Amino acid sequence: MATTGSTGPAFLQAPEPITEFAETHDYEVVVVGAGAAGVSAVHSAVAAGAKTACVQALPTVQTAGNMAASIDLTKTDEAAVQACVSFINFKSDYRSDRDLVNVWAHNSQEALAWWEETAAKGGVESKPHDAVLNYNGYDIYLHANTYFHVEGNHNAAATVIAEEVAKEGGEFFYSMPCVQLQTADGAVTGVICEDENGDHHLFNASKGVILATGDYSSNEEMIEYYAPDCKGFRLSTDFRDGSGMCAGMWAGAIMTPHTHTKMIHGEPAAVRLEMPFLFVDQQGNRFMDETCCRMGYLNNFSRKAIAQNGFTDSTAAKFFSLVPANWEDYYEDWKAAAPYDISQYNGNNKVNPEKWIQAETLEELAEAMNAYAAESKWGFTDIDANTLKATVDRYNQICASGRDEDFGKSTKYLVPIEGGPYYAIPRGSNGLPAILGGLVVNGDYQCLNGDFEPIQGLFAVGNASGQFFGGVDYPMDIEGLSIGRAITTGYVTGKTVANL
Ligand SMILES: Cc1cc2nc3c(=O)[nH]c(=O)nc-3n(C[C@H](O)[C@H](O)[C@H](O)COP(=O)(O)OP(=O)(O)OC[C@H]3O[C@@H](n4cnc5c(N)ncnc54)[C@H](O)[C@@H]3O)c2cc1C
Repeated sequence: MATTGSTGPAFLQAPEPITEFAETHDYEVVVVGAGAAGVSAVHSAVAAGAKTACVQALPTVQTAGNMAASIDLTKTDEAAVQACVSFINFKSDYRSDRDLVNVWAHNSQEALAWWEETAAKGGVESKPHDAVLNYNGYDIYLHANTYFHVEGNHNAAATVIAEEVAKEGGEFFYSMPCVQLQTADGAVTGVICEDENGDHHLFNASKGVILATGDYSSNEEMIEYYAPDCKGFRLSTDFRDGSGMCAGMWAGAIMTPHTHTKMIHGEPAAVRLEMPFLFVDQQGNRFMDETCCRMGYLNNFSRKAIAQNGFTDSTAAKFFSLVPANWEDYYEDWKAAAPYDISQYNGNNKVNPEKWIQAETLEELAEAMNAYAAESKWGFTDIDANTLKATVDRYNQICASGRDEDFGKSTKYLVPIEGGPYYAIPRGSNGLPAILGGLVVNGDYQCLNGDFEPIQGLFAVGNASGQFFGGVDYPMDIEGLSIGRAITTGYVTGKTVANL
């Protein structure tokens, strides 16, 4: 990472202010970034009557993902809403700010209904996914928009929504990245963008600037500084370079204390059986207490393998779960006892054993696992059939004794791998779709300065804002929470700034 002596990483050093402009544009609200949060912010600012521009780095709208979560307030009472806020805080290692989560909890139904309806108007239909979460004895009714089935997924919805928002009066400027913010006396008064010719444009914002630029999960220097646990994982996107957050910090905004919450995902639904059977590494050895079997947390066990391989190949994070043929016999009981840990679903999509690696003997299974790894271009898999057999024999002995002397796994999960057919499921995510850390904001999503005072004229929404999450890993228990909060915080803040 390039640094400048004792003053920290280079990306924190504010550049010389740009003062010459090819063009000046006057607006009340300027939204930076046309992703999930940005498009929503433009809509609600326009709907509230503000003259609104959106400056977007790329030639098109761009976001990613499939599911977006909301609370169904027609069925969930206020006590249950607050239990949901507490649940998110619990799942965030108690580092999330209730005020920020409450904005999602109370407004997500309206925001996501608008999103769903507007996308459908443009021909992109959601397949809703409803779920009930119980926490502290309260039932929380969740509703998610899903776009797994649509080519382009959530981005397809965002694209047609932006077309509708442009018809409403939102003005989109594409290929117009924000490179700095314009400031005066500590307030933010506009956005400075650079066009494709290298000329600068000043977008004055008389009411406020909303940063909706996403996170920095494609900027390796920022990752190394703010979320070093992510080092070596595959970057899933190239359009989240953190430039919007840097512009905010050069204007006085502060970043949420790190380390930031990492979202390490990417196992396809068909193979993501989240049940604590036997896990083996790429040499066929058991390596962990499998009780932690959820996709989002497994990176904590495989980071060591990535480090041992010099951070050069993210497939070092991969491993296999060996599953007995009668796995379904255990599902309901285990799920009832550990509802947040056990799962065979991703949204409406269920695991598909036909996609698993299958063999009649352990020797054949080792061969099939190696073949799968080679085909999938995993770098380090070399499973010797005798090693695999010894691992399974040892595990079965542990199961028979009822006490796990190797990793202390709960007795109820000690199920032997015996008889045939044998199943191996490829597991271990190696991709980094998002990082949930961002600028510190107050309950109005207004950025704070180093004295924790609001910066006049500057707001941050979606992943550009921090302190909604805060744990080491992104919780998957409310599927689609990240996009749900992006859409909702954009939707609410667009209105807030327009009404200033
Ligand atoms: C493959 C994949 C699958 C995912 N699946 C899910 C899922 O199912 N559910 C879920 O909740 N989350 C999911 N996520 C995470 C989700 O994509 C993000 O959390 C969410 O999109 C964040 O929304 P946002 O509006 O904050 O940022 P984004 O949607 O990333 O939008 C930011 C926008 O800002 C623009 N921009 C950046 N810098 C500048 C600049 N300087 N000037 C102008 N414009 C700029 C970018 O081009 C981009 O269009 C997934 C991520 C990936 C990669």
